[in-house]
Amino acid sequence: MLLPLASCSNGNTTGAGGEKGTVTQGLVSGPPSLTVLPERKWPTMAALSSSTGLEALLSTLQDSVDAGNTLNILNVLDELLSAGTDRRIHYVISKGGSEALLRALVNTARAPAPNYAVLLPLLHLLAKVGHRDRKIGQKAEKAEAVLLTLGLLRQNMKRARRAAACLWVLQAFCSSVSTASFIGKNRGLDFVFKLISSHTTKHTRTVKAAIDTLAAILHSKANSRCAVTKGYISRLLKLYEAWHHKDTDNVNVPIRIALLHCLHHATNTAAGSAALVAEGGMALLFQTTQACLGTKCLESLVESAVQLMRKCFPKCPVPLTSDQSVYSFPLPGRPISSLATDPGPQDDSFEDDSDDDAKTDEPDHREYDDDLETDLEKLRCRPEPDRPLEQLGQYVRLCPELHHDFPDLDSCSELEDSSDEELILDGEGRKQGGRILGHRREQGDSSGAACQKQASPEEAETPPVREGGGPAEKGLKARDGCGRRHSRSRAKTDDHSMVDRLLKSHGACIPNHDPRKYTAAAARTKSIAGYSILAFPDFWGHLPPNHQEPMASRKPNVQRQKVFEDIQRLLCPEDVIDQVVFDLEDPSPPGLQEHPDSLHFFSKFECGNLRKAVRVRNQEYDLILNADVNCSQHLQWFYFEVSGMSASVPYRFNIINCEKANSQFNYGMQPVLYSVREALQGRGHWVRVGSEICYYRNHFRPSGQQKGPSYYTLSFSVTFRHSDDVCYLAYHYPYTYSALQTHLQMLEQSVDPRKVFFRQQSLCSTLAGNPCPLVTITACPPCRSWSHLYQLRNRPYVVLTARVHPGESNASWVMKGTLEFLCSSDPVAEGLREAYIFKIVPMLNPDGVINGTHRCSLNGEDLNRQWMKPDPALSPTIYHTKGFLYYLSSIGRTPLVFSDYHGHSRKKNVFLYGCSVKETLWQSGSSVNTATLKEDPGYRTIPKTLDRIAPAFSFNSCSYLVEKSREATARVVVWRELGVLRSYTLESTYNGCDQGIYKGLQTGTRELEEMGLKFCQSLLSLRRNTLLYNRKFFNHASALLDLDDSLLDHKSHNSFEDDEPPCVEEIEYLSDSCPEHGGDKLDSEVNGNVSSSEEEGVEEERRDGPRNGALRPDRRSCVIPHPVCDASPETLTAKRAMRSGVDIVNGESFS
Ligand SMILES: [Zn+2]
Repeated sequence: MLLPLASCSNGNTTGAGGEKGTVTQGLVSGPPSLTVLPERKWPTMAALSSSTGLEALLSTLQDSVDAGNTLNILNVLDELLSAGTDRRIHYVISKGGSEALLRALVNTARAPAPNYAVLLPLLHLLAKVGHRDRKIGQKAEKAEAVLLTLGLLRQNMKRARRAAACLWVLQAFCSSVSTASFIGKNRGLDFVFKLISSHTTKHTRTVKAAIDTLAAILHSKANSRCAVTKGYISRLLKLYEAWHHKDTDNVNVPIRIALLHCLHHATNTAAGSAALVAEGGMALLFQTTQACLGTKCLESLVESAVQLMRKCFPKCPVPLTSDQSVYSFPLPGRPISSLATDPGPQDDSFEDDSDDDAKTDEPDHREYDDDLETDLEKLRCRPEPDRPLEQLGQYVRLCPELHHDFPDLDSCSELEDSSDEELILDGEGRKQGGRILGHRREQGDSSGAACQKQASPEEAETPPVREGGGPAEKGLKARDGCGRRHSRSRAKTDDHSMVDRLLKSHGACIPNHDPRKYTAAAARTKSIAGYSILAFPDFWGHLPPNHQEPMASRKPNVQRQKVFEDIQRLLCPEDVIDQVVFDLEDPSPPGLQEHPDSLHFFSKFECGNLRKAVRVRNQEYDLILNADVNCSQHLQWFYFEVSGMSASVPYRFNIINCEKANSQFNYGMQPVLYSVREALQGRGHWVRVGSEICYYRNHFRPSGQQKGPSYYTLSFSVTFRHSDDVCYLAYHYPYTYSALQTHLQMLEQSVDPRKVFFRQQSLCSTLAGNPCPLVTITACPPCRSWSHLYQLRNRPYVVLTARVHPGESNASWVMKGTLEFLCSSDPVAEGLREAYIFKIVPMLNPDGVINGTHRCSLNGEDLNRQWMKPDPALSPTIYHTKGFLYYLSSIGRTPLVFSDYHGHSRKKNVFLYGCSVKETLWQSGSSVNTATLKEDPGYRTIPKTLDRIAPAFSFNSCSYLVEKSREATARVVVWRELGVLRSYTLESTYNGCDQGIYKGLQTGTRELEEMGLKFCQSLLSLRRNTLLYNRKFFNHASALLDLDDSLLDHKSHNSFEDDEPPCVEEIEYLSDSCPEHGGDKLDSEVNGNVSSSEEEGVEEERRDGPRNGALRPDRRSCVIPHPVCDASPETLTAKRAMRSGVDIVNGESFS
């Protein structure tokens, strides 16, 4: 028997095995460009191109009036779609498959006595195809098939198989929200709900289909509102409870999950969530879920219930009177009242507040990123300077190296200069210098005598701490926890004698740190709150621990457990203590008197930012961070003191007002802790601590908002080693402004002034009146000869900046590494000083750092978005850094390299962002012909070199794209306006590395400092030729860089990997974590319906013809009774040929 396509339209075939393979063979070859396998027997096939073959078949289907013929075509289609991948179905859909099936459905169902022998397979096939056609809803409405199917359902409420088939089709239609609403308006909700019975063992497939369809109908918010008013939420909860209790052997888990899915959809409105809570849904879900824990087959049920509870958990405002920062600062030219105009977090989402992360925030599957700059003019043309040339004269003072004439140096003859002998001599001399240097350091460390001799005028103003004098006027004191559990009002003199005692008995021995100098520096630091207390770690100093710290492993379901505990607050409010034990605005909060056994918190010190602590349970505290000064946002950084603990008791801390949508705390990162007791025993280390760490969306929202998104909780547990210790917890290793001042002062004293030209100047004063340091480092000339001075004054400039974002303390540690290396006697450092003049602004945002902000300066704005037009009054450090760069440019000394050090909160490793016209255009899909564009590829030299020499660095994470949203950042402005080819953002992880020798380890300050050193070393690769005159140095450089460019290209490029795989636990409950009904799952249910034992009519079943009784897991040919099951060997061969043939969509072989 034949089913040649040519004769299909005649409708006179009955369909049998023989031709089937042929038809599908023709169809399978798919797109017209593919060769149709030659078919000798039926020349009509060869004559037809494959796609027209499929179209002919579909057109025959929709016009067919003969039942046998229709069945035959359905059979062929089903066979065709059952093999291979979903791409076949999508191909058929693209050829009008859905429309043909709908048409056939309408034709068949409108007949006076619908033939269910045809209708049922038709519905089954339509369900399978419809679930994969995103436009099936609209198509069905157009074909007038929606109400028709609903009508069929009403007629067959008592016939389980037919009802199930109608339900699946309706469910597919509901993928369009408007179709779902349409079905709701036509009482679809009620008909479907009627089919959902309480616990039963009969017709469970149909019950499941009804629940799934109800969920699909509830897609439409109008329908879910309607469900709330009709009381369906309470009824669904009762149904869920009944199934939970009766389904004791867990055979109907899918039904229970489907009910939860319905509840998810029904609670998509505020009224729905409120109804669920009012009906006791939280308690019911909580209790039923507890009973399901630990049973493996119930995992996804538990997950769905947990997400539902999280979603419906009533939102409450954080317990603050205002989200606005406790600290405000009057801005020049702005009335204080304008501060109140900060709009606070916007409704849809918190701003993406990282340089770094915008692009990786959302899984974005668009082919091109429309944030990329595609305007060639903007990419290539340098805009006019933002200020007149005359204003640049003020920066002459910032280049003392160009005017200094080194009066202390001898003059020497030109002849000696050029000889190798001289260079070797020079090397010897240097060695001598190193010894002197070492000696000086010893002196400095032991007695400080050398330091005093060279003390700067500023230091002279503030003598070292002693009893009753110097900074005592300011009342500065270090907090060590000795005998201060309840009192914060010790006599100042006690503190100073305490400091002296401490220093006498323990004597800090941390390189480039001195507690006394730190105290003196801190006394000069101006803060908004007028800090009078030093945090002990900053005072005492930090040394990295000897061992490296692996990333923390995540306990399974740690977040779930925390969410359960959160939910218990709602269910058992009487168990919650809810007492404020610390409040930045209230020195003696009531909770502290009532709970003397509570932990004590404190944060009124440099970089500290805890605003409030609430004791929730005996060993659990909710912590609220202070927003950035003059605004109500940017909550991520934290640093606070905790005391009054008992040893060996786990305390749970929840930072409840975090803003970011995800965090490295979910991927192995731990906060850092510093113990005063440990430090006094010689272990002054910040260490990574915390267990049961997780980060998830919570039920708190900003205090001033009725609607909108909620905050995230960072939760972790800490077990303290000592009782009655004083400990400090922070987001990352703190690095204060006072620490920088101390460090610079000590560095300056450490260098040999005859060898190293080191100048610290004030770039400008910040808004709060703190000097913003600018450091110059280069080599002094060996003598005063003209050629040496000329060489010095013509060295290229390297400009480095850091810490524009105060919360990125990692950037300061990298900068510390850079500064220390550049001041060191390492031969490579010597070579670099001889090759370059380094201009370093180590802290672009001192005010932000001092006052514990995360992102902004005192004006509540991100300084790294001000570079295009920096305001001299509001963003002075940016204004003058840019002005200084303009100045260098105006004297023909545009920097060779500019790099701004940052921290990256979402990614691992260290990497660079640079700027490239070509890469941006490629990546943006721009039509500009980049082949004709000339671009110096030199911007890649440093990252390539770093990839070789810096273990934490990852070349694959680098990017050179210019984004519109980043056009006002340092990197892009310095590149575009100043024309610096090598303009970078250096991003360092807060967490650790996932490659190289540090893989699996969290970074410590040692690794961060090493990165700063390696960045300097990488600069060698730019100046190789100029450096060759120094033979000794050349050997070092060669060994270090392995000067072979070809080797530098060993890593692949342009894999912009995503930050992390999705978190194992849902961080967000807003995105409905209940998975949509997958097409494959539906297939097996549909197939089950074909072979169902839950039949309503035996006669009907007979008419369906012979059937394979086994329930098959795949979607292969179960829709339709098989007229071809006894196929001839020839057909089977043809089928095999088809299966191992060519994919219909792209011609790939499949098997
Ligand atoms: Zn940053």
